[in-house]
Amino acid sequence: MGQAFLPACADKSVCATKNLPQVRRCELNEYGAMMRGCESRPARLVKKPHEGETTMTLSLRPKLLPLLVAALLMSLAATAEPAAQAPAKVFPYPIHKKTLANGLDVVVIETPEFKDVLSYNTLVLAGARNETEKGKTGLAHLFEHILFRHRYAGEEGGYEDRMSRLGTHNNAWTWFDVTFYHPLTFTSNLAGKHTRTEDLPGVLPLESSRFKALDFTEKIFKTETGAVLGEYRRNASFPQLRMSEHLFALLFPHHPYGHETIGYYQDVLDMPQHYDAAVKFYDTYYRPNNCVVVVAGDVKADDIFAQTEAAYRDWPAQPVPPITATGAPPAKEQREHVPWDADVAPLVWVAYRMPAFKPGTTEGAVAQLLNELLVSPAAPLYKKLRYDKQTTSSLGFEEGTQGFESFDPRVLIVGAQLFKEKHAERGPAYFDEVSGDIIAGLDELKRFSKQKDAKKLLETLKSKYRYDFLAGLSSPAAIAQNFAWYYRFTRDPEVFEKLLQSVEKLTPKDVDNFARTYFVPENRAVLTLAYEAKQPAQK
Ligand SMILES: [Zn+2]
Repeated sequence: MGQAFLPACADKSVCATKNLPQVRRCELNEYGAMMRGCESRPARLVKKPHEGETTMTLSLRPKLLPLLVAALLMSLAATAEPAAQAPAKVFPYPIHKKTLANGLDVVVIETPEFKDVLSYNTLVLAGARNETEKGKTGLAHLFEHILFRHRYAGEEGGYEDRMSRLGTHNNAWTWFDVTFYHPLTFTSNLAGKHTRTEDLPGVLPLESSRFKALDFTEKIFKTETGAVLGEYRRNASFPQLRMSEHLFALLFPHHPYGHETIGYYQDVLDMPQHYDAAVKFYDTYYRPNNCVVVVAGDVKADDIFAQTEAAYRDWPAQPVPPITATGAPPAKEQREHVPWDADVAPLVWVAYRMPAFKPGTTEGAVAQLLNELLVSPAAPLYKKLRYDKQTTSSLGFEEGTQGFESFDPRVLIVGAQLFKEKHAERGPAYFDEVSGDIIAGLDELKRFSKQKDAKKLLETLKSKYRYDFLAGLSSPAAIAQNFAWYYRFTRDPEVFEKLLQSVEKLTPKDVDNFARTYFVPENRAVLTLAYEAKQPAQK
């Protein structure tokens, strides 16, 4: 997932691990997944605002491109038709869904153009948001690690050994609402190889085994808590982790969104003593009625349904406790300065609490365009700060384009990196100028409909959004990941179409209304960070 969450220098560790193909690289924050160390989310989900065209052109597979372009042209033609006509479908592949008796949703997206490719994904509807017990944060991410240590057939390393013998590219990421596991392999590896010389289970029996009957010991648990502690310390060398910890605590004092996906440092330190709580977490949330299997690639839906039915049917359902937040969010603007003990470029974050996301709604549709409206190179705010005033060296959304697509109201974070020299000259006045400009830039959207050519501009943005959206679906893995990301909200297989149609229907006034409702001081937090030499060492 996107590099947007990833501190630049974390790229080095990514490159380092690439040389060790047997080592699984946790994606929790890398991108972050969000970005502060491990990879927490998928590429399109957290892509940098201005990576658009280049990435898209490079990543589009030749076989898929004509299909997507045809779909796009059809949808463009459809928008020119009278409104009474049903809109043409944009996503070119049929989506098949079956809910098993135990509540497990199985979704199959047949993409035969990708010959022999199998993207086998499991979405668990549990993440940092489900860590509601005080002192026990970080468990969702811990399980992302432990799932790879599954003792298949009772053997230490049994799962990873077999996945690696199948030649599977295997990884996972953890986010606030969900944990996502996404092995990628050849279709022939679905059911396994059973020959005279080899008896190797396939991806489907291996995956079903670790989700329905994870076999791990207290020793494995303790080893992985050590790995997570190492990951925390690695991430903590980047100021972004500290900034997000402060920001989330300010905005969500009574909700589990108040802590990072990796958990509080103290909780990660104490994690080795919480084996029982960890077992309980797995037992509560790794349930068929709380998971979705999404298979995309060169497969047949009927075949997948028959095999999943057989493999998962003995996984018992269990009611999953709802997440209920207690206590109101802060009723006024929050401001905080975070001192940092390493000589880094100063940072300014201007954040706003956002509504809960639901694909297909007008608010959700406006949110899809915020990236282009605010931090793309064509956006007035971006031009002002980067080119006209040259007060920032970067400007973007800290959690990429989709950080605020969440079950409960979360946050939009506009982040800017400043220049050390200017900060040395001007001090806090420099921070005030940049944060003031960012706030003014967001306030401008309250009058979006009043500007000249507002309607034409909006049509251009919609069309770019639609093209970028389709371009992001450039492989079975990308299709499955993006589908799972949006499907979780309403469990509607038509979610891509509903999302795209909602954007298509937007009017300039909808942008005004969204900005007037949410870009208000009481929803806002402003954080700044700068090097302070005398500051005692950060933990
Ligand atoms: Zn990790």
